[in-house]
Amino acid sequence: MSTKPNYDPQVIEASRQQSWEQRGDFAAPKPADGQQRVYVKPSSPFTSGNLHMGHVRDYSLGDAYARFRRGRGDAVLFGFGFDAFGLPAELAAIERQEPPAEWVAECGERMLGQMRRLGFSFDYDRVFYSSDESQYRWSQWLFVTLLERDLIYRADATVDWCDTCQTTLASIQVEDGRCWRCHNEVRLIRRPTWFLRITPYLEENDRNTERLAAGGKWDDLSLATQRYILGRADGVEIDLGSGDRGLTAFTPHREFAGLASFVLLSPRHPDVEAWIGEDSVRQELERMRSGGWDRSARDARSVPVVDTGASIAGPNGSELPVVVSPIVDARFGPTAALGIPAIDEADRDVAERLERVEFSERGEGEAGPEPAPADGAREATRYRANDFSISRQRSWGTPIPVVLCEACGPVPVPEADLPVVLPRDIKPTGEGNPLAERPDFVDVDCPKCGGAAKRETDTLDCHFDALWLWVPAAVPPEDRDEQMFTHPDLREWLPSERLVAGNDSGGFVFDQRVVTKALRDIGPFDFIADGEPFAGCLFHEMVIADGRKMSKHLGNVVNPDELVSQHGADTVRLAVLYAAGPAKTLNWNDGAVRFAGRFLRGLWTYTHDRLAQLEDLEHDPEAAADTEHMRDRLRKWCENGLARITEDVEQLQMHKAIRDITRLFERIQDFEKRVVKRRGQLGRADAEAQIAALVLLGRTLVPFAPHLAEELLVTAGIEDNAEALEAWPEVVEIPVSAEAPAAS
Ligand SMILES: [Zn+2]
Ligand SMILES: [Zn+2]
Repeated sequence: MSTKPNYDPQVIEASRQQSWEQRGDFAAPKPADGQQRVYVKPSSPFTSGNLHMGHVRDYSLGDAYARFRRGRGDAVLFGFGFDAFGLPAELAAIERQEPPAEWVAECGERMLGQMRRLGFSFDYDRVFYSSDESQYRWSQWLFVTLLERDLIYRADATVDWCDTCQTTLASIQVEDGRCWRCHNEVRLIRRPTWFLRITPYLEENDRNTERLAAGGKWDDLSLATQRYILGRADGVEIDLGSGDRGLTAFTPHREFAGLASFVLLSPRHPDVEAWIGEDSVRQELERMRSGGWDRSARDARSVPVVDTGASIAGPNGSELPVVVSPIVDARFGPTAALGIPAIDEADRDVAERLERVEFSERGEGEAGPEPAPADGAREATRYRANDFSISRQRSWGTPIPVVLCEACGPVPVPEADLPVVLPRDIKPTGEGNPLAERPDFVDVDCPKCGGAAKRETDTLDCHFDALWLWVPAAVPPEDRDEQMFTHPDLREWLPSERLVAGNDSGGFVFDQRVVTKALRDIGPFDFIADGEPFAGCLFHEMVIADGRKMSKHLGNVVNPDELVSQHGADTVRLAVLYAAGPAKTLNWNDGAVRFAGRFLRGLWTYTHDRLAQLEDLEHDPEAAADTEHMRDRLRKWCENGLARITEDVEQLQMHKAIRDITRLFERIQDFEKRVVKRRGQLGRADAEAQIAALVLLGRTLVPFAPHLAEELLVTAGIEDNAEALEAWPEVVEIPVSAEAPAAS
């Protein structure tokens, strides 16, 4: 009698991982002719120090899909880079009093170790850090390229400033109007800031979103974020006044434009200056602009409203006061809108604050006003999405490749002089701006006139680095220095077949879609005709515990390392995938781990038992004929099960696929019970059919619990190489016939 091994995930997982690594199973291949190229893009983690359960969820989903596509014979690229610049790393470095570069390197190493331990099939040779010089050199190239096309511009913006620390603060560093570090009051200042112009591509993003929705590869969650960020409003627009006293005003209330009683102008409207006559109004507007309304333009009652004192002839001939307020931006973008308090609640809130506007309050239960469409109104659309700031006054970020010259103004650094290198030994303290205090960084000659000039000491927000963070994995590391945006492989891998990311990535994705279109028009991405970086997209919700967001403070943080050392990677992966569909918040509990562990142990023992007893069984033609119909039913169960599982995995509905796998296992056990009930025991033909069914089941389990599944397949006689083990079953081969199989 053969001894059957116990299920020891630590041993099995270490051994499988060693095989994968030695064979280089997950290196992105050079696609063969006719082979489909599939780039599965996971989210780019911040170098935060540790994987959390959200990462485990994200990468388990993406990994299952990547393994499935490999198994179907596709060329798969599954790679990512770290989002390594930015405030979290800078704050950690301040706390630990070490250069952020060191902290980032430590975190990255630790997180990569955790990923390997979980068995994620990334092409680890392609991993990169956005804070690497070879990487941010291309962020700078992108900046200069977009600047040349006027897609980046410089304008004043409001930022929080701490007088004590002599530094600008990010909004999360301001608590109740006080500095996080010294607890003194902060104030708002206006300073020149760099902006990314996204407005030229909003309409195309809008059109494409609906096309992508029809294509079926974007899930509802990801589409909802794209629509929300876009903030499309449909209605009518109407020309008021004429010449330089003219305005085109929008309203979503088609039927009631004739009832307008004022015009609301965005402070960012291109013509806003023309409407500010008196000095007092100008001062009021300045006050409003430095009032930090960017942070709080939510509630109409608290947002400032400035009456310009000017009026314009309205659609029904009456004079409409022209009023400036960022309320417009929060609803329709930087435009002009008709204020119609008679039917619009937000407009009513504004009207209540205006002396020049009268309107009658509607009583309870009173019917609304009669429709009053305006002559000359035409169909129009507005978008709330707007240009945004991409520069920060922080030292841990991509240096902005611009020299500020008193004679020439801002001058971009010539491409040949890139990268502008960030000093690696900078140790931020939270005080001042460390970059500005480094003469070796700041003092330069102007590239244009040769005179003495200063470098821009703002750095790029990591949101800017993220605009193209999906690109580098598609370029072999050795070619990135020369060909990051021109490498022929880009045409093979882009657009990415599927992005898998958390539901909070909507903003990143929206802006990545904008920049892809810009790069298409500029040239490098001319082969992406629709300018869409992701053919498909799956967003998943977060992982919580005890019904609440995990936090150290609440003491409910689930540590993936502990789970893996206790239960093994396969159990943790299976549990995370099984516990909830991607569109649902996953409320973590031990039940899922217990279920997954029980299933895997059960399958392990059952399969080993059946394999062990097979050798003792003789072929018996009479018994085989008697149970042929049962084997045929088993085959049908397998066919149905496989069809369902395949469909689920194609849609990345891994929770359903796993449920179907567990059901198929029940069917296989049920088959045995029925045969035993009829004949007292399994015949050789039955046992062979059952083993074939278990092998099929094992193959479908490879994407989810790869270590155990591969180990079982090897035990069942499948060759130990990636191609044989990963192959996704396309047809069901269960021996049904009662004929004795030819001796092999
Ligand atoms: Zn301070
Ligand atoms: Zn100059």
